[in-house]
Amino acid sequence: MKTVLIGVGQAGGKLATEIANFDAEMEFGAVTGALAVNSAKTDLRSLPLDTVLIGQDRVNGHGVGGDNELGAEVMQADSHEVVEALEGRITSEAEAIWVAAGLGGGTGSGGAPVLVKELSRIYSVPVYALGVLPGQGEGSMYQVNAGRSLKTLAREADATLLVDNDAWHSAGESVEEGFDAINKAIAQRFGLLLAAGEAVEGVGESVVDTSEVINTLRTGGIAALGYATAEAAPDAEENINVVMSTARRALLTGTSLPDATEAEAALLAIAGEPDRLSRKGVERARSWLEEELGCMQVRGGDFPLGSERVAALVLLGGVERSKRVEQFFERAKAAQQETDAIEEERESADSLFQNDQLDNLI
Ligand code: GDP
Repeated sequence: MKTVLIGVGQAGGKLATEIANFDAEMEFGAVTGALAVNSAKTDLRSLPLDTVLIGQDRVNGHGVGGDNELGAEVMQADSHEVVEALEGRITSEAEAIWVAAGLGGGTGSGGAPVLVKELSRIYSVPVYALGVLPGQGEGSMYQVNAGRSLKTLAREADATLLVDNDAWHSAGESVEEGFDAINKAIAQRFGLLLAAGEAVEGVGESVVDTSEVINTLRTGGIAALGYATAEAAPDAEENINVVMSTARRALLTGTSLPDATEAEAALLAIAGEPDRLSRKGVERARSWLEEELGCMQVRGGDFPLGSERVAALVLLGGVERSKRVEQFFERAKAAQQETDAIEEERESADSLFQNDQLDNLI
């Protein structure tokens, strides 16, 4: 999928960089352009991408803090600058635009939905979002921001691929310590997804192509990505079970949104050396996915890659009714109520201080 990537906010910029680097290192050529957008100058400085600084008249390059309403406002005011910077990059070969952002912060959280809406209005290619959900341990503000941002994104984007920050970090490290590792994991998995339709070697009927990725995402709403890998024998016949068990792990323990096992559509891509890929294994794994997900729209195919291991990528479309998403919205709602209660208390304390009677008492 020939893609133009736009990272909004700190996490978005870092992700766009990692994904573009992975694509270049692997020589996939799926990422045809990458851009980082932020209201904080310092966050842009360290990135090797072309950048756009928004909201200068409002925040003077200092960022919006965790204020995602301000993030949305500065994007609204300056999205034309992003569109200008994109000019010439969305060529006829571009098949999609992906906007990446951490949903719990300010600039990305507020800005990404506004930008997605604006780009959808202008361009005819699908505009997707790659959104990072705050981990459970992150504070209320992050959960509230992410809840609001996700609701709008899910409506405005052609699909929103979610990565839960709790999903791909190793045990024992905090989310913050794990950011670099998580970003690398996201870049590798998402990078493979973009490249899955780009395979040229060994092109045959069974090879996954970009239209299958697009059709899987066509259900709209929220999407998730699963991944697992395993050693493979040199002979495809011996790899029926390897393919099957790798696909199972990709769905059951390797998704970007743990426990997202209800989907409206899915795509299974089995990557590896064509000689090692068992057709029978792919077919069995595809049927298993159909049953497991309770969904009839499961596509499956090969992704020829020069690797002795096999990897399974499972793209799930339309997972918004899965437990994990519901739990997240409950978490965001509880955090919103908590924030409202604190705000109310503060307001009543303020009104006490403004009360004349109180002045008389002192
Ligand atoms: P912004 O610059 O105002 O858009 O804010 P951030 O991009 O820092 O967004 C904050 C949210 O993104 C929080 O939920 C963080 O956990 C998450 N986040 C920040 N940096 C990273 C990162 O490098 N990787 C990942 N995966 N998440 C991040």
